[in-house]
Amino acid sequence: MILILLGAPGAGKGTQAKLITEKYGIPQLSTGDMLRAARDSGTELGERVKAIIVRGDLVSDEIIEEILTDRIGQADCTEGFILDGAVRTTGQAEMIDRVLAARGRALDLVIELTVDEEELANRLRNRMAEAKAQGAPQREDDNEETFRHRQKVYRDLTAPLIPYYEAQGKLRKVDGMGQIDDVSVGIDAVLTNFNAA
Ligand code: AMP
Repeated sequence: MILILLGAPGAGKGTQAKLITEKYGIPQLSTGDMLRAARDSGTELGERVKAIIVRGDLVSDEIIEEILTDRIGQADCTEGFILDGAVRTTGQAEMIDRVLAARGRALDLVIELTVDEEELANRLRNRMAEAKAQGAPQREDDNEETFRHRQKVYRDLTAPLIPYYEAQGKLRKVDGMGQIDDVSVGIDAVLTNFNAA
């Protein structure tokens, strides 16, 4: 099963991807995690992307192609995988189709987690307050200004993927406003339906 999780920053894609991984045994491919790991280990790629991540802009489609092509080719992706925040522009969507087709594979479903902007802002504030209370390190792009910019980038560049996948009949919307377990039940229903078809 090859899935894309789509949704604004803070919609809960990472959290839900982990739950899908536990339940279905397919890996979570988060380009955000991959890019942060590259940045933290000081690789040449990390150097190229660190300023972009801090600003909340998107790295180039070419970089995403490079890291995803490599990752998708690894053995644990044979049975499928979850693209978590890994497809963020129509260029990337076309690239994924091409990369998969070259391997004789295709995307199965795109799950959009829908959360309104007020709730997204509340979640950010809670995350910031929790990190502060615990003295834990904070993501550099987790501040009000960058967060607002990331939401705009989502609206301008990523949200157009919703009609794109709708037209392909692959889009399923899941209400992301509830508690983690409730959202997970919504996703399960979609996946059970898909697997039964
Ligand atoms: P995330 O953890 O998914 O919110 O990603 C953090 C940051 O990494 C984003 O704000 C972008 O700067 C970068 N990034 C992650 N995935 C992508 C992608 N597919 N395309 C472009 N930039 C990305």
